[in-house]
This record gives sequence, C-alpha cells and structure tokens, in this order.
Amino acid sequence: MKIETKIKETLKKIGVNKKENILVALSGGKDSTITCYFLKKLGYNIEGFHIDLGMGEYSEKCLNAIKKLCNDLNIKLNIYDIKKEMGSSMCYLRSAIQTQKSLKNCAICGVIKKWIMNREARKLKVDKIATGHNLDDEAQTFLINIFKGSPELSINAGVISKNISDKKFIPRIKPLFYISEENIRKYSKQKNLPVVYESCPCALDSYRIQVRKFLNTLTRKDKENIIKNMEKILKKVKRKMTDISYCEICGEPTRKNICKKCELMDIKK
Ligand code: AMP
Ligand code: ZN
Repeated sequence: MKIETKIKETLKKIGVNKKENILVALSGGKDSTITCYFLKKLGYNIEGFHIDLGMGEYSEKCLNAIKKLCNDLNIKLNIYDIKKEMGSSMCYLRSAIQTQKSLKNCAICGVIKKWIMNREARKLKVDKIATGHNLDDEAQTFLINIFKGSPELSINAGVISKNISDKKFIPRIKPLFYISEENIRKYSKQKNLPVVYESCPCALDSYRIQVRKFLNTLTRKDKENIIKNMEKILKKVKRKMTDISYCEICGEPTRKNICKKCELMDIKK
C-alpha cells in the first residue's frame, strides 16, 4: 500500500479533522519531515515547531533543514531556543542531571522535549501535536518494555496519546505509526526533502540500539505483526489511572505532585 494511503487511513482512525490546528514537532530528521510533508499535502492545517537543542553543528544543520522545509511548504515555523529559554544547551542540562541521576541521554532529552512541546503547543493554542514516530520506533519501544517486564509502560503507545484527558494536555498524534523506517527513508530520498540523515550525536542508548539491530533482522511483515499484537494486548493491559493534577513547580499536568521534568531538573521555572 502507498505511504500516502496508509497515512490517510491512520489520520482517519485517529479522527483528525482539517479544521484543527496541528503543530508538527520537527527534529530535522526524515520522520518528522515526512510527517509534515504529508500533512500539508493532504490539506491539514499545520505549523512547524522546532526545539533548538543548541548542540553545535548538528543543531545548526537541523535548523537549516527545517527552515528550508517550512519555507518550501509555506508554513509558519515556531522555534524554541533551549539556550535562551532554559539557560543552557541540552548537553549541559543533561550532564548536570547525570551528575545526580543515572539516566540515559535519550530518556532525559525525551522528558524535557515533551514538557516543552506540551507547554508551547498550549501557548500557541493548537489542537494537536504531530510527531514522526514510525513503525520501527513503536515496535522497539514495545519490545523494550516487554523485555524490562513493564508492558504497562506501553499503555501510552498508539496513534494518539489517549490516557490523559485534561485541558492543559495537548494530545499527541503519530501519523507514521504504521509506516516502516525503510519506506520513510526511501520516500524522503526520492522526494529529495531537506533532511539531516545523521542521527543525534548523543543518542547512545545501547539497549535500544541492540533491540533495533535485532528488529532489523526481521521482515517488515514481522514488525507490522508486533504492532498489531501490541494493539491487541494493550486493550487488555490495565493501568491504575490516577487523576491528573498540576505540577507544584511548573503547573504542567502530571500524575504526581511534581512532573517528571521538574523532578529531573529540580529547578523552579
Ligand atoms: P526522538 O525522540 O528524537 O526519536 O523524536 C521523536 C519525535 O519527536 C520526532 O519524530 C519529532 O516529531 C519530535 N522531535 C524530536 N526532536 C525534536 C526537536 N528538537 N524539536 C521538535 N521536535 C522534535
Ligand atoms: Zn513541573
């Protein structure tokens, strides 16, 4: 099936309508670029959003690619400069956290990026955030959670974040949920889209790399089956749903008194 048809079906399944404002979280990589390209092609109402992580040459390349994309597609680009807003680059923030907590680079970066995305999307008054997560990312995360004995951590997985319903929480959607990384790469090269193909210099999560290597020994059909079964299993996995409250430090929605980002950063912002 064509990528475009699959994306259309996914958006139908999610139930996005064309009047909604969607903020596309752009990293500069192929997945979020393709997400943006198709949402625009299919006539959705979109704006781009990029967090400039301030990581030297790599960040500059990402920013330039995104500026070109948004210019080519004629969409507004919103940039969040982490150095300006938080006082230092992601590398520095992460190292500071790692002096006290033994957490992986991507875990820390992921928490901070999600926090920023939700807050900025709310300020921009959009209805949804679209990210570039693809079939391979989702299969990896699901297997990692199973291997670690915590399948319930995948409860948030799916084409739309559905376990939080709160006025301060902006739902996140994944239009590429059913598309393999290989197809995305082929398509973005074929269309010659402005993409940074090198991976983030800080993505050193050895466990995920190991799982990715294993998954790459399987066929696309196998990966699709993992995702299909994940959806079936997750319908049955129950997680204790606690009420949403607001972080005592930053005011963002959380299930605890203090949100994950403030717990990590332990600073008032
Ligand atoms: P990652 O967690 O780096 O695999 O990225 C997952 C998704 O988050 C990407 O497909 C983007 O949609 C979004 N994303 C990652 N990095 C950024 C960034 N620096 N700015 C905005 N969105 C991002
Ligand atoms: Zn907080």
